[in-house]
Amino acid sequence: ASGSTLMRDPRYNKGLAFTEIERDAHYLRGLLPPAVFNQDLQEKRVMNNLRQYEVPLHRYTALMDLQERNERLFYKLLIDNVEELLPIVYTPTVGEACQKYGSIYKRPQGLYISLKEKGKILEVLKNWPEKIVQVIVVTDGERILGLGDLGCQGMGIPVGKLSLYTALGGVRPSSCLPITIDVGTNNEKLLNDEFYIGLKQKRATGKEYEELLEEFMSAVKKNYGEKVLVQFEDFANHNAFTLLEKYSSSHLVFNDDIQGTASVVLAGVIASLKLIGGTLADHTFLFLGAGEAGTGIAELIALEISKRTKAPVEATRKKIWLVDSKGLIVSSRLESLQHFKKPWAHEHEPVKALVDAVKATKPTILIGTSGVGKTFTKDVVEAMASFNEKPLIFALSNPTSQSECTAEEAYTWSKANFFYLHSVTEYKQAEPLSNYHIISLRYQGRAIFASGSPFDPVEYEGKVFVPGQGNNAYIFPGLGLGLIMSGAIRVRDEMLLAASEALAAQVSEENYDKGLIYPPFTNIRKISASIAANVAAKAYELGLASHLPRPKDLLKYAESCMYSPGYRSYR
Ligand code: NAP
Ligand code: MN
Repeated sequence: ASGSTLMRDPRYNKGLAFTEIERDAHYLRGLLPPAVFNQDLQEKRVMNNLRQYEVPLHRYTALMDLQERNERLFYKLLIDNVEELLPIVYTPTVGEACQKYGSIYKRPQGLYISLKEKGKILEVLKNWPEKIVQVIVVTDGERILGLGDLGCQGMGIPVGKLSLYTALGGVRPSSCLPITIDVGTNNEKLLNDEFYIGLKQKRATGKEYEELLEEFMSAVKKNYGEKVLVQFEDFANHNAFTLLEKYSSSHLVFNDDIQGTASVVLAGVIASLKLIGGTLADHTFLFLGAGEAGTGIAELIALEISKRTKAPVEATRKKIWLVDSKGLIVSSRLESLQHFKKPWAHEHEPVKALVDAVKATKPTILIGTSGVGKTFTKDVVEAMASFNEKPLIFALSNPTSQSECTAEEAYTWSKANFFYLHSVTEYKQAEPLSNYHIISLRYQGRAIFASGSPFDPVEYEGKVFVPGQGNNAYIFPGLGLGLIMSGAIRVRDEMLLAASEALAAQVSEENYDKGLIYPPFTNIRKISASIAANVAAKAYELGLASHLPRPKDLLKYAESCMYSPGYRSYR
């Protein structure tokens, strides 16, 4: 290829890193300044530039420009600076990017399938230049993060998620396909915006919607076969559950908002047992929010308890309570409940307020998934701390402003309210008082806190507490890699459990000492490989893997499958 073509293709371009030999061999002499940089120096240069931008959105657009200019350098940056760049290419900055997509839009980064393409979706898929596709992330833009209906501008989400499939999970960039299905939007602001890039009509629903999705799903299977993973992302919950249910028996599908969230939270719960004590079955759970995240997490926890205790899942659900916008979900509400809430309608009198639900159900673990901020108030946290030595609190709602409480609030409000009952035998040496000795000096007995959005460590009375972040990016890249490397044809709940267990096993003693229930993101490639290996093992065990024979050492095999962004040499 001529030098200028090589330079213009982001997949091949190396910028100043083209060597002297390559410059001669590929007619690049004179097209580049004389200096030759190695990739590390390029990385340093771009990171320096990025850090000059104070507005996160500017960092986002600079990164997107890099992706379109030099793909390998983009992924090298992402891999080497994952903690710093994750909030840019993913939540929260990607959300802002979607909101302003109409004006920052430069080049299409994925495939758009709208109602106009009805009847021609297979042809549209064939227009995509890559023939080998392993993962599709698809959205219809109706519930983008916590931001609501962004219609066609939701494209930023599949693009961002897939860049994490590559950076964190090692899936080759060429086999990742971002898709946005445009059935209209109900967002008035977008409908009236002259720069809106999508269809200017109200959302299609019912039969029209179902037919488009059906055509899409069968075109995908026809074009890419049985083993392509389709990840549903940011669909509104009235479609998300239905689509997942409908296609999970015929396609390799996964919903990150339901299943990915469930798997990452379950991992945190399993890991936290080392800190809060007891077995999983000993705990009682209360959720604020009974949507995709809440019911998804609840079900996976119930399945894991059932797996561990051999009790039927109908029984293990009984220790899990959920509160929705109308209060505690109880059996007297059964008739009027959406179908995904019905399994959680336990026998209890109606309870309206969260704090009363806490007092009534006495949870050891409290999980916020309502999308509404500041709902874990002082009296809620104090109630949790009054009957738990170490209450486990997840404030998962995003973005940060919607978090149920802050890390600092969780730590300070759970300070000294715990009255620990020591039996006299523990105080043999102490002067005998009564049968039980009640003290309230268990300052260590504070909350274990994890959130959806990142919080800084909190210093409190000389001790540093590091809040954990239950970020879905811990799970989906490794899960995806495991499915791909085993050639799995279906996703099963057992695979999600396998992913959770692998992630929980990555938390070290050193992490626990800081109160962490998730490992640091800096190790994410290693974490993803071990999740992938565990998921693949399950796929083989269940007879759902098609890559045969099964590699002996799945962990080594996972690592060997992972894309690495170092430059190749062109001779
Ligand atoms: P969703 O499907 O819309 O569900 C929201 C649920 O919250 C519904 O059950 C709703 O009740 C309930 N709710 C709303 N307002 C409430 C209130 N004031 N009091 C009590 N319940 C209330 O949303 P989702 O997909 O589950 O997401 C929920 C939140 O979780 C979002 O903020 C999202 O960012 C976050 N999330 C975080 C992670 C993560 O950190 N890893 C992953 C996924 C989601 P009704 O059913 O009665 O309407
Ligand atoms: Mn999502």
